[in-house]
Amino acid sequence: MKHNQATRRDFLSTTVSAGIAAGMANGGFFESPLHANETKKLGVALVGLGSLSTNQIAPGLLHSSHCKLAAIVTGTPAKESVWAAKYGIAKDHIYNYESFEKIASDDSIDIVYVVLPNSMHAEFTIRAAKAGKHVLCEKPMANTAEECREMIAACKKADRKLAIGYRCQYEPHHLYCMNLAKTKELGAIKHIEAGFGFKIGDPTQWRLKKKLAGGGALMDVGIYALQACRYLTGEEPVSVIAQETKTDAVKFAEVDESIAWMMKFPSGVVAHCTTTYSLNGINRFHATTENGYIRMDPAYSYNDNRLETARGTSRGETKLAQVDQFATEMDEFAKCILENKPSKVSGEEGLKDMLVVEAIYDSIKTGASVRVVA
Ligand code: NAD
Repeated sequence: MKHNQATRRDFLSTTVSAGIAAGMANGGFFESPLHANETKKLGVALVGLGSLSTNQIAPGLLHSSHCKLAAIVTGTPAKESVWAAKYGIAKDHIYNYESFEKIASDDSIDIVYVVLPNSMHAEFTIRAAKAGKHVLCEKPMANTAEECREMIAACKKADRKLAIGYRCQYEPHHLYCMNLAKTKELGAIKHIEAGFGFKIGDPTQWRLKKKLAGGGALMDVGIYALQACRYLTGEEPVSVIAQETKTDAVKFAEVDESIAWMMKFPSGVVAHCTTTYSLNGINRFHATTENGYIRMDPAYSYNDNRLETARGTSRGETKLAQVDQFATEMDEFAKCILENKPSKVSGEEGLKDMLVVEAIYDSIKTGASVRVVA
């Protein structure tokens, strides 16, 4: 597990010595921040203190303007004292999976951030909503579209907000690309190539167990490429056709190792996508437009993503601010709660991805093109 975590973290933190200075313009896409006030920060309970919580989310919370770490929920007693000491969390704000419901009477908690294996997302989102808390749930939203629907329904019933941890939708370079696509400054997008993968380590980890992960590379990282195609086109794919390959039938006995898939969009845009658990270095999208292209490579890392655009034969790199994607994601969710507006990375958005994921798996089974049904 440790080996894989290090590998994955190192990979996602790909360092491209582009020399992008912090504090440069972010492209002007963030709304003006609410007035940050320490005492008014919303309290976050982190559920699941694994690699992402330890290395990205908890440090991100220290940089958040509108959220703070208020409580932890863990199934590993040894982590309690370590986290309590590091983040100054009192005993009465520490819970385990069995005592979780007690968060209902903990007024320091506004938001529950679910950072557990994928199969546990639905259960803890629903339990959190029933406890009266807003929910930020990590991607992929759940193991199935059916679970996504149950999560949406539970949060609606409890009148709580639900958002999915699609951090790239707050990353300045991605926002810049979305704007270029929308304004058609380089002409309309005609074709997209997108992919994300990494070489997975430890063969015993939950990511390789279907019951815990739901699927393999596609649900873990392929979903970033899938999302990028959706938010660049601003459209939902109408059909997909996919093919899976395995080079290690033992290690990948339960989940997909590598998938190549094609999505057709209503406007005629075609996207060719790939995902893999066998190779580092696939981390990009390239959208060909009428007059040039929009390209990010790396595209989905925690930092140092690189954006290049072309108009005719003239190419250039666009360097924007580096932000803590997790702090930004949590701040934007806090603003949705405080201003009572829906999140742009809502449960409905997570469900749309899961419907495409299920169509891709169907296509692999049948060998045929599959319509994506909303
Ligand atoms: P991890 O393996 O490092 O941590 C998982 C946590 O869940 C651990 O604390 C573990 O103790 C706990 N857990 C509870 N029940 C478990 C069980 N039955 N088996 C295994 N662990 C169990 O995983 P992670 O990398 O932190 O990923 C957690 C979630 O975050 C996943 O849904 C993953 O897709 C998502 N994630 C998102 C990003 C992102 O950039 N947004 C990056 C990495 C992971």
